[in-house]
Amino acid sequence: MSSKKDIRSLNEDDLKEILISNSFKSFRANQIFHWIWKKSVKSFDEMSNLPENLLKFLNDNFVINFIKVHRMQKSSDGTIKNAIKLFDGYIVECVLIPTNDRITACVSSQVGCSLNCKFCATAKLKRMRNLNPDEIYDQVVLINQQGIEHFDKPLTNIVFMGMGEPLMNYNNVLKSIEKITCKSGLGMSPKRIVVSTSGVPKIIKKIADQGVKFKLAVSLHSAINEKRTSIMPFNEKMSLSELEESLRYWYDKTKKIITYEYVVWKGINDTDDDISALVKLCKKIPSKVNLIQYNNIDDPNFIQAPMNILNKYIKTLDSNKIKATIRRSRGQDIDAACGQLANKL
Ligand code: SAH
Repeated sequence: MSSKKDIRSLNEDDLKEILISNSFKSFRANQIFHWIWKKSVKSFDEMSNLPENLLKFLNDNFVINFIKVHRMQKSSDGTIKNAIKLFDGYIVECVLIPTNDRITACVSSQVGCSLNCKFCATAKLKRMRNLNPDEIYDQVVLINQQGIEHFDKPLTNIVFMGMGEPLMNYNNVLKSIEKITCKSGLGMSPKRIVVSTSGVPKIIKKIADQGVKFKLAVSLHSAINEKRTSIMPFNEKMSLSELEESLRYWYDKTKKIITYEYVVWKGINDTDDDISALVKLCKKIPSKVNLIQYNNIDDPNFIQAPMNILNKYIKTLDSNKIKATIRRSRGQDIDAACGQLANKL
């Protein structure tokens, strides 16, 4: 591990100051940033419009910690899963999901996860650290490059549904989104970004106050408080009523509809009471429901409910004018689907 500073942890003004105090011209900071953030170069020597003495200064004092692909796997459905090696040796995963009209990047926000959702493979990994903004940004750049290389299409959408809980690392997640959406970065529309959370009420309110423009998805899985606690134990501390209140606040501030992610399991949330509770919740705050297919993580307690139960959910939601869809799973054969990211190498 290098003791030199990662140049990407600086903002442009910091870099300008450093350059000026070392007798370089301040406009060089802009050129350097262009190479780093627009061109995604991995070494200073590729910065062909910089003078020799500046290249030497940069090489002597800084590093560029661009993430490295440790392993790439391609699913029979085209999904690509990357195991990414970070500068300190930790590994996280990011996934490219191709569909007819989209290339979606599913990115990680933490090494491991501190929440303990019982049905999620990532939950079995201890949370080791938060990802830096540039480590999140790099996953997006990588998937964009892979989209062009493998599918002739650039990235169109980003979902924060990889490893970790984005709202437990929201400062860095927001910084990465700034870079992804700003002109000097990738210039993507924030409307194409979905941040998925298990539901951290305090942070939901905080980001609503900041006037963010991305979409919010909440992993609900049950609208009955005790039941939710039994499958998502952190719900004991951050209860459903607190979550509800924060989502009301989010909607009032942002006017953005919330998507609930919901898996239906046999014997867990497959009764009429479960459906009624979900309908009741959806009626309180403008929202839609995404029924996600369960991806097996070899736990006998969790078995996907049969199609007739999913159809009952859809029918009831529909008759209550609540939009609901069923999301097909992608990349299951390479453990790249939701909740399967667990560094199985
Ligand atoms: N921590 C965030 C983002 C990561 S998980 C969150 O909880 O939203 C992304 C989505 O996959 C969440 O909706 C999560 O509940 C769901 N998920 C987790 N394990 C799953 C599994 N085994 N099968 C299907 N979906 C799963």
